[in-house]
Parts: sequence; C-alpha cells; structure tokens
Amino acid sequence: MKTHDADLIIVGGGLVGAALALALKNTTLDIILLEGREPMLDWPADSWDQRVYAISRASRTLLSEIGAWQGVRSERLAPISAMKIYGDAANSRLEFAALEAGVDELAFIVENRELQRALWLALAECSNVRVMTLVSAQQLQIKPEEAILTLDNGQSLSAKLVIGADGANSWVRQQLGMDSNAKSYQQFGVVANFACEKPHYGVARQWFMPDGILAWLPLPGQRISMVWACDESRKNELLALSFDELASCVTLAGQSQLGKLDSITAAAAFPLKLTQVPHITRSRIALVGDAAHTVHPLAGQGVNLGFGDVAELAKVLGNVHPGRIGDALVLRRYERARCESVILMQQVCDGLQALFNNHNPTLKTLRNFGLTLTDQLPWLKRQLIRHAMDS
Ligand SMILES: Cc1cc2nc3c(=O)[nH]c(=O)nc-3n(C[C@H](O)[C@H](O)[C@H](O)COP(=O)(O)OP(=O)(O)OC[C@H]3O[C@@H](n4cnc5c(N)ncnc54)[C@H](O)[C@@H]3O)c2cc1C
Repeated sequence: MKTHDADLIIVGGGLVGAALALALKNTTLDIILLEGREPMLDWPADSWDQRVYAISRASRTLLSEIGAWQGVRSERLAPISAMKIYGDAANSRLEFAALEAGVDELAFIVENRELQRALWLALAECSNVRVMTLVSAQQLQIKPEEAILTLDNGQSLSAKLVIGADGANSWVRQQLGMDSNAKSYQQFGVVANFACEKPHYGVARQWFMPDGILAWLPLPGQRISMVWACDESRKNELLALSFDELASCVTLAGQSQLGKLDSITAAAAFPLKLTQVPHITRSRIALVGDAAHTVHPLAGQGVNLGFGDVAELAKVLGNVHPGRIGDALVLRRYERARCESVILMQQVCDGLQALFNNHNPTLKTLRNFGLTLTDQLPWLKRQLIRHAMDS
C-alpha cells in the first residue's frame, strides 16, 4: 500500500487554516500545517493589533469546540452589546441591541493576533498535527492517488489531500488554474485603533457616508478600532495624516460620539474585493477561507464564513474512511454544503455596498427610508439579528 508523508497538508496557517487543523484533532488523520510566517505569541499589554474581527456566535461555538476560544484572554475581548447604523440622511438610523434578541452580546471583537495566538497554543497540544513555519509551498502536482508539494527549502511532501487556506490571492488556487471571478470594489479598508474620551459601552457604530463606510468597533477599555472603507484618494489622504490629524479626522467623521479620540496605532490599508470561486474542490484539493471567497467587510463576516467552511469540511472529512478524504465525490459534499451560505453573504454585502455607494437621489431616499423602516419593525429586526449572530 502506498504511504504518504501525511494524510492531509494544509497550506496556510492563518485563522482559517489553523482552525481546520485543530478541528481535525480528534480524527486519525495525520496532518501537516504549512505557514510562511512566524507565529507571534507575545507582545506588550498596551499594544493593540489594528486588524480585528467581529466573531459571530456560530464562530465562537466552533472555536470553543475545537479548544481555541478558551485561550483568548478576557482582557483582549470586547463584547458587542448593541449596534448603531446611520444612513446618509438626517435621522436615518437602525439600532440593534443584544437584549432585544435575548442574548448577552451580539458578537465579540477580538484582535487577529490574539485569536491566532490562541489557535497556535491549542495546536501545540495536538499529537496528529505537525506545524511547519517559515516555509512556503512552491510547486504542486496532482496525481490520481496523491498530491505532491515541493517547498522552498527543496523538501517534497505527499498527501491524499491538500487544502488551500492561503488567503485571498491563494497560491494553491493559482497553481491549479482554478477559475475565480474577482471584482475590485475600488475601495480600501483603512484600519487604525484609538483611545476614546467617553466609554463606548460595547456599542459598535457604523456610518454609511457618501464617500465610504466608517465603522467603530469596541475594544477592551476605552478604546475602539476603526474600519473605514473608502476610495483610493481618501485612503491616501488618511495614510498621509499624522497620528493627531488622523484622530481629529476620525473624531469628526463620527460626530464626536465618543468625545475626543487619540491614535494608539498607525493606520494600515487593505484592498477590498469580491472573489467568487465557482468550484472550491477538485480531486485531492479543497479551498477554505479567503482562498475560497472574499466579501466586502461592511458586515464583518469574512472570517466567519471561513470558520463556516472549517465546520463543514471537518464534518465531511471526519465521516469518511481516511483513504477517501481526497476523493472528488467526498469533497463535492463540502462544496455543495457551503455554496448557498457563501453566495447569500456575498450578495447581501455586495448589494449593500452598491446601494450605499451611489449618488442617485431616488436610491438615497429609498435606502434611508429602508433603514428607518427596519428600525421600526421589531420582528424584522429580530430576524436580522439572529441571522447575523448565527452566520
Ligand atoms: C479591512 C478588513 C476588515 C475585515 N474585518 C473583518 C471582520 O470584522 N470580521 C470578519 O469575519 N472578517 C473580516 N475581514 C475578513 C478577514 O480578514 C478574512 O476573511 C480572514 O483574514 C481570512 O483568513 P484566512 O485564514 O482565510 O486567510 P489569511 O488571513 O490571508 O491567511 C492566509 C495564510 O496563508 C499563509 N500563506 C499564503 N501563501 C502561502 C504559501 N504558499 N505557503 C505557506 N503559507 C502561505 C499566509 O502567510 C497567511 O498566514 C476583514 C477584511 C478586511 C480587508
């Protein structure tokens, strides 16, 4: 019988790849996780990552089940108790409160590196996962019985299945020429953190403005994290500002709702695009996370979709004979199960982005009317809250 270096090789140890390896810890599968970067496990207590995520209830359940959530330190977590969304007309707004949905919090805000740290620490306890860092995959060959990866250190590894968890510009997807349709939003997500003069009480705020979408997400203590989706010229302006100028500009854009802001990190920017991949599997290959789909961050759902992939793929792989994990028919089950939720989320985010990134006066009236109307319909609001929390 043919032996392989591993049953499964995951290329990319970001949040999604690392979570998948952890989700398979109780199987008999022998796993290699490859990551090009070095994990960051320690940093000063007063240093804050500008990259933060709103983790949905469904993602938190998954992360708890795989033993990662327990490693996130409570002092680095901020529950969202309510959301305030403002349109681009006076008095158009929509508010959600966790209490309306009968829960303590709508989601949790956590820094990228804190969650990544918790995943790395949990992985260190897994006897069936070998983590290889500071290596990149450089060549990929698919054969009927195996996939063979060649690394940048010259080492060659074979497995029954290779998972591409290597982000939006997936190397695995490109190596295999897997079709993908990418639409640039001609926007960037500018992120930065601030200390605020007034307490935020766990309220997340979002403004749909004529020139972009601004979000203030609560961080622990009197701090917030900003995501400003804006066009390139605005992005360049924001990145060119000094710390003080940036803090004044963001204070003003958010109508001083939390008093004066003070910068606690530099700003960074990420290009925003919609990526649709019609087929995320083929024989011996499956894609997860941003390698399989990207969405506009206005609903904060990108990594949550990736954790949804993890839950589904782990279920499929855990329920078949280890010899069959790379079969196209088995992997197709995962693809079919994810298709609907991914397309739905992509359409909702894309539709909202198009609706608000438009100067047509009729559309402006309609979108602001819709926001205010939704605010007055408790039943509809409850449905929206449930969907956002459980996605
Ligand atoms: C501005 C902005 C704000 C966002 N806010 C939110 C939010 O609030 N909530 C939310 O859910 N999502 C949010 N997202 C989306 C979220 O960032 C992504 O969905 C998530 O990071 C995807 O994780 P991933 O593990 O799939 O990919 P990545 O985080 O890109 O990880 C891929 C990993 O693969 C490694 N890698 C790549 N190529 C190779 C190779 N050849 N060999 C070895 N390793 C390799 C990389 O080093 C990296 O560690 C936001 C996105 C943006 C741009």
